Amino acid sequence: MLVVSEHPLVKHKVALLRHVETHPKKFRELVRELSMLLCYEATRDLSLVDETIPTPMGTAHGEMLRTKIGLVPILRAGLGMVEGVLEMIPTAEVWHIGLYRDERTLHPVEYYNRLPTPNRVQLSIVLDPMLATGGTAEASVDILKRWGCERIKYVGLLAAPEGVARLSGAHPDVPIHVGAVDERLNDIGYIVPGLGDAGDRQFGTA
Ligand code: URA
Repeated sequence: MLVVSEHPLVKHKVALLRHVETHPKKFRELVRELSMLLCYEATRDLSLVDETIPTPMGTAHGEMLRTKIGLVPILRAGLGMVEGVLEMIPTAEVWHIGLYRDERTLHPVEYYNRLPTPNRVQLSIVLDPMLATGGTAEASVDILKRWGCERIKYVGLLAAPEGVARLSGAHPDVPIHVGAVDERLNDIGYIVPGLGDAGDRQFGTA
């Protein structure tokens, strides 16, 4: 399932994010804000547990989240997405997976993985801003499934049609939430028109 946000705030912030003159400080702020908004949409189907809540005036019926959530930012560009999501879901655990894309083959290479055994989360949310070839996304979901995670969602900022096709072909059970789907990939696997390298733009390393 592909969900492209229709929210005006998301569209506005995606436009600012893409702009060539958006500098790293502003870029990081936008990544944080967009991650919050997109995760808000991505978590709308979480189940709730009925609770009785004592108030200063008596008791109220309340509904509370009890799902154990793991945020899985893909190093390094996914790092900037964590803070905003953690502000909304402060009890989430954060598990890092390091995957880089070999620039020659465009295949993902795993270089860091400290997921605990056994798996202790009920929902994993993969955070990676750019769903480009889809190779890294597919590999990260493969890793999470091997870890025993039965429920996984992917949240990104921009996607290429090629990446959406690859991830949803390999893992049709993983919903994909993004801010926009662009035209295509170029011949070195960058999203066009996209925003350039999401890691470089966040960390000022272009
Ligand atoms: N990764 C990026 O940072 N940008 C792209 O366009 C594709 C992959």
